[in-house]
Amino acid sequence: MFLAIDDTDSRKGMCTTFLITELLREFEGLNLMDYPRLVRLNPNVPWKTRGNGAVVIRLGDGVEKKDLVGFDGKEIFSYTGESVDMDDALERALKVVEKWSETSEDGTNPGLIVSNEKAPYKMYQEAVKDVVELVDTIAALEKLDCRYTGLGNRRGLIGALAAMAWIPNDHTYELITYREQKRWGTVRKLNGMIRFDRETERTFDSYDHDEKQQAVAPRSPCPVLYGVRGDDHRELMDALDIIEGEPIDRWLLFKTNQATDEHIQYSTADEVKPWTSVHIKGTVTSRPNTITGGHVFFDIDDKLTAAAYEPTKGFRDLVKKLIPGDKLELWGGIREEPLTLNIEKMKVVELSEKEEKVANPQCPDCKKRMSSIGKNAGFRCRKCGTRAEEDDIETKLVERELEEGYYEVPVCARRHLSKPLKRIHSG
Ligand code: ATP
Repeated sequence: MFLAIDDTDSRKGMCTTFLITELLREFEGLNLMDYPRLVRLNPNVPWKTRGNGAVVIRLGDGVEKKDLVGFDGKEIFSYTGESVDMDDALERALKVVEKWSETSEDGTNPGLIVSNEKAPYKMYQEAVKDVVELVDTIAALEKLDCRYTGLGNRRGLIGALAAMAWIPNDHTYELITYREQKRWGTVRKLNGMIRFDRETERTFDSYDHDEKQQAVAPRSPCPVLYGVRGDDHRELMDALDIIEGEPIDRWLLFKTNQATDEHIQYSTADEVKPWTSVHIKGTVTSRPNTITGGHVFFDIDDKLTAAAYEPTKGFRDLVKKLIPGDKLELWGGIREEPLTLNIEKMKVVELSEKEEKVANPQCPDCKKRMSSIGKNAGFRCRKCGTRAEEDDIETKLVERELEEGYYEVPVCARRHLSKPLKRIHSG
């Protein structure tokens, strides 16, 4: 039986993953099959609270009641645990969701699904890459052997169904620790994050060395103490020894689609759709322009504007070194108004040649340097009146301050679904 939930939290508190720990308490007589799953969905949907994550667990039949039925070197048991009754499970799970959800907050619309069947994979693919309509989710639910309840506007059902539909082809893990309830809302006391980052090989996004900021503990008043991410779940457990501070009330390891780039779809610069995330190839066609607030913009193929916003910090300095003619690949989310690609990752495929003016053109007859007539108006020889164009100036090639290769926004600006270069380069 799958048990999936989404949209239980608000910016003021709670965390849908914490609710899974409460659901595991409620259903402790059942076996947890595989890891609990934390599934991130389209990071561009405007109504997400934070990271657009939904969670799902799979519970097996109860095995508590066992009868001894034989002996053959060891005891043989028959398990009499009954099949899980979905109506009963939905009622019990709903009580937990109602107890812990921030339903009084606008924008919290919990969705809860109990199902004997997995939803079709395409429901995940659509929800991670695009915007899904609630009617389509309900239509898919109606075809499944399941029970479901949606509170508020019922939008949480979209994420809950999508999480259940995920197949972990590529996947990573996150170990999430939770605080004692009496400390919720107080300042988190933690240290050891730099050491954890340095001493573990296959973890990522724990510490932002450029910005000198930890990236494991949320800043909201939610129950999470910290979450560490990586490819090896055993290595993540090292955090329990290395990261120190306040007591951990409970912890849970999630299998997740974080850091997989599964939100990205290939597109051309003129075909991008708002609220999706794309991978495009193109050529820089305008000089990067910095506006008030420190956001940097430049054009690709004269068709799409790409942006490195202020939160991407030092990444903007790299972007400012681009010049027209540079060939790039870009990964990022598409904002609707104005239509812009918010860069997550960039590959400089080919740098164009950068020229610098050395001198005004030389008069072919008098061999003297010509004088400028005016801005962009060309040149004239003072002696004989011969004219030359702006393009006739003498130039020299200058060395580029940028190298070809991959670049990514710093850890502090990283999207949950973005595949870090560390994962790309380790294959
Ligand atoms: P947190 O990360 O803290 O759990 P959140 O960012 O996940 O919070 P939610 O509170 O879950 O935010 O709100 C996201 C809402 O958007 C949910 O109701 C979810 O069902 C819905 N949703 C998720 N993906 C899509 C999608 N692709 N199209 C339409 N709605 C979506």
